[in-house]
Amino acid sequence: MPREPVTAYVALGANLGDAVQAVLQGIEALRALPDTQLIRRSPLYRTAPLEASGPDYVNAVVEIATRLVAPELLARLQSIESEAGRERPYRNAPRTLDLDLLLFGSARIASECLTVPHPRMQERAFVLVPLADVAPALVTRAQLEAVAGQRIERVDEPVA
Ligand code: ATP
Ligand code: MG
Ligand code: MG
Repeated sequence: MPREPVTAYVALGANLGDAVQAVLQGIEALRALPDTQLIRRSPLYRTAPLEASGPDYVNAVVEIATRLVAPELLARLQSIESEAGRERPYRNAPRTLDLDLLLFGSARIASECLTVPHPRMQERAFVLVPLADVAPALVTRAQLEAVAGQRIERVDEPVA
């Protein structure tokens, strides 16, 4: 029996090279995942690095419906990151592309390589603001107020 699709949310972030293009290409790579439909995506945002140095980030969140199981989805996210030239010289290093699994249906996962819901999502305006764009019911006003001090602004996107 084929599995029912699960609604999942993926956060994208980039701050090296052409970060706008990197995030847009990341979104297209998510759209092309097998057994997966891209339901909607947030606008792009430019955000200040948080507990990190380097250039501003470009961030977005997408909602997908996927029949992939969570470990398989994580592996796919990591290969998209690798294709984008992702390197991990140290924690919170500048990156060409970061794809984090925020939510996977109502699953709670605590394995060695995957924690869902993403453990730091509530601390981050660059996650909560675009998540509220695609799934307003998942983010409360109080959660947004808690991160209101973090700099985040909409990016004017290149016309395709
Ligand atoms: P942060 O998780 O604080 O945003 P990061 O995205 O820079 O940091 P990465 O270097 O991309 O961290 O990932 C480090 C490890 O996190 C990965 O090897 C992956 O196995 C693990 N990981 C655990 N939970 C998740 C998740 N929900 N989404 C993506 N990676 C996760
Ligand atoms: Mg991350
Ligand atoms: Mg990551």
